Amino acid sequence: MKIGILGAGQLGRMLALAGYPLGMRFRFFEPAPDSPANLLADHLTADYADEQALRRFVDGLDVVTYEFENVPVLVARFLEQFVPVYPPPIALEKAQDRLVEKTFFSDLGIPTPSFTCDLDKELSSVGLPAVLKTRRMGYDGKGQFVVRSQTDLADALVQLAGQDVILERFVPFERELSIVCARGRDGAVVFYPLAENTHRDGILRLSIVDPARFDHRLQSQAESYARAVLDALNYVGVLAIEFFEIDGQLLANEMAPRVHNSGHWTMDGAITSQFENHIRAVSGLPLGATSPLGACAMVNLVGQIPAAASILKIEGTHLHLYDKAPRAGRKVGHINLVADSQNILNQKIGEVQKYVG
Ligand code: AMP
Repeated sequence: MKIGILGAGQLGRMLALAGYPLGMRFRFFEPAPDSPANLLADHLTADYADEQALRRFVDGLDVVTYEFENVPVLVARFLEQFVPVYPPPIALEKAQDRLVEKTFFSDLGIPTPSFTCDLDKELSSVGLPAVLKTRRMGYDGKGQFVVRSQTDLADALVQLAGQDVILERFVPFERELSIVCARGRDGAVVFYPLAENTHRDGILRLSIVDPARFDHRLQSQAESYARAVLDALNYVGVLAIEFFEIDGQLLANEMAPRVHNSGHWTMDGAITSQFENHIRAVSGLPLGATSPLGACAMVNLVGQIPAAASILKIEGTHLHLYDKAPRAGRKVGHINLVADSQNILNQKIGEVQKYVG
């Protein structure tokens, strides 16, 4: 089977790496000339507006998927005329605009932080402090400001001049959690255990999945929300939803219709990785088991790459590099850790962090 992937970043690279053992072949479509999946497969470098290039891309493919939620919806819909596109393009529509996304969550009965895009009329219903975000194209904390006063809000609006925005209640959360799940072409669904995520400067730094701290109640809450999204979209592939935990409840922040950074631990820490499950899902194969193999952690490498030997001498570590030049704030790789207990895991995270900064 030949799978086309829109976007050739690290997620595309890891999808291909997971698909080769299953006998899959890949072709990438990516506007940027130099990308992490370059070495791995056929590569079409062209603009998303180039219809001839899209036709060449799709020729001979069995299915198309994407690794990036800002792929233009029109491109996904165009390709759908020729081959199935999974996840379905409607998932892109829901995920690309924070207002559409939060409204979609609310319509499904999934709690979110209170939000509005009508700053004149509804500021008081959201209240302060709040977070002002661009509706589109924000990621890794880009295009967002915490505002604590009317003056902050006015300043932030000036900085985001002209862009459509959404204002959300600032949530003094206890933890950030995410669920990664997959739905097959036959409608079968699997869920990974909730990951606990730590961000700094809006960028994910650390994810932990520890079976000893498994919380059945929160897990089933997250699963029921995720299932509502999967079913509403007749979804195929891996989906991630990020939550804030506050007072024992989950509030949905955003979803990603793709494999997700907080699921990278599954490459070494779960029976089946999120990447393999995505490939299985979009190609119509049965989904694999999601159980963790121990206490797991994923440490992102942001802006710098430590010496491989310093990391790999720590027992239980795996290093994943993305073939990207280090730059401030850029994700260039990650380290996965699997340990027998939470204590050992914490100790190893501490050791790894000495080299990661
Ligand atoms: P986002 O781009 O929406 O994923 O936001 C990036 C990070 O900013 C989140 O992971 C949180 O750490 C923080 N953040 C975003 N929205 C809120 C909010 N409404 N309240 C508190 N923190 C937030």
